[in-house]
Amino acid sequence: MKITRIRAYQVDLPLHEGSYKWSGGKSVSVFDSTVVAVETDAGITGYGEVCPLGPFYLPAYARGARTGISELGQHLLGEDPTHLVCLNRRMDAALQGHPYVKSAIDMACWDILGQATGQPVCVLLGGRFGEDFGLYRAISQESPDAMAGKVAGYRAEGYRRFQLKVGGDPHVDIERIRAAAAKLEPGDRLIADANTGWLMHDALRVVRAVRDVDVYIEQPCRTYEECLTIRQHCDHPFVLDENIDSLDVLLRGHADRAMDVVNIKISKFGGLTKARQARDLCASLGIAMTIEDSWGGDIVTAAIAHLAHSTPTELLFTTTDFNSYVTVSIAEGAPRRVSGRMAASREPGLGIKPRIEVLGKPVVEVG
Ligand code: MG
Repeated sequence: MKITRIRAYQVDLPLHEGSYKWSGGKSVSVFDSTVVAVETDAGITGYGEVCPLGPFYLPAYARGARTGISELGQHLLGEDPTHLVCLNRRMDAALQGHPYVKSAIDMACWDILGQATGQPVCVLLGGRFGEDFGLYRAISQESPDAMAGKVAGYRAEGYRRFQLKVGGDPHVDIERIRAAAAKLEPGDRLIADANTGWLMHDALRVVRAVRDVDVYIEQPCRTYEECLTIRQHCDHPFVLDENIDSLDVLLRGHADRAMDVVNIKISKFGGLTKARQARDLCASLGIAMTIEDSWGGDIVTAAIAHLAHSTPTELLFTTTDFNSYVTVSIAEGAPRRVSGRMAASREPGLGIKPRIEVLGKPVVEVG
């Protein structure tokens, strides 16, 4: 099988809640997502999606994804999309770095492999663990009372894991954590995600002030070394996210005992092929994982579901259903949250069918 054409589409994904805010005053109200269609000489077309969390979260931005896809696409015409590791090496040889540019192409090629073999992607990624899996809900940064007030509403939707966006004024963040923790019920879990927003002295004060609270601390500071220092001064379960983008850092973090949980985002690693490699390494090392992406609509949510469903249940800390945060559906067949839980499709490939009327005309066309 050969790749004959690659197209990219731009789609806006507004949020049901109007905006999403996190550390440092960062905020997004409409996500700019890119859908990739990889066409083949076998008549199979695969779809992928990449959606940066604005241009200021990771070194990634929406127009960069599309420019990168047009740059990279020309090197992939004639390649076999079902030979995923070969294809990834080809992408790495043609374009240094830029994992988020490669992510949607790799995702689309897994969709092709699944369609060609009649298997859901989760089966190809290792098999389906259990019937479904639990989701977390991110709580956008607001006042402590407003954030605590969201816990009950999201629990009514079935969520039992709540990720508070902190990383602001440390005194307010202490109140945010305490107010939200007071709303928890047995079995709930609370994660305070600072998204790199604290300096070390502030992070040390926050973790000391909430020492008696059952809360996970996620990515308090900007660098790995800063986070490791905070980790060594706190006894909360500890999550690393923004710094976790390669096997190297996973191995280093394991050797340093730098974290209990890592966040594996598909586009941060460069697609399902590399995210799976990281997932399998973590599973072998006994490191629990949040499996997700930077953001996305139905296609990213489908890909997350396949990677999450093929992760051993006890090692899947949590995952997310981005398509329930946004008002626009870009594909049929995407997984939907049921009582705070989700499952990967049982259809071949990613199990989605894009809504062409929503995608509109392609903005990138190679081949
Ligand atoms: Mg995070």
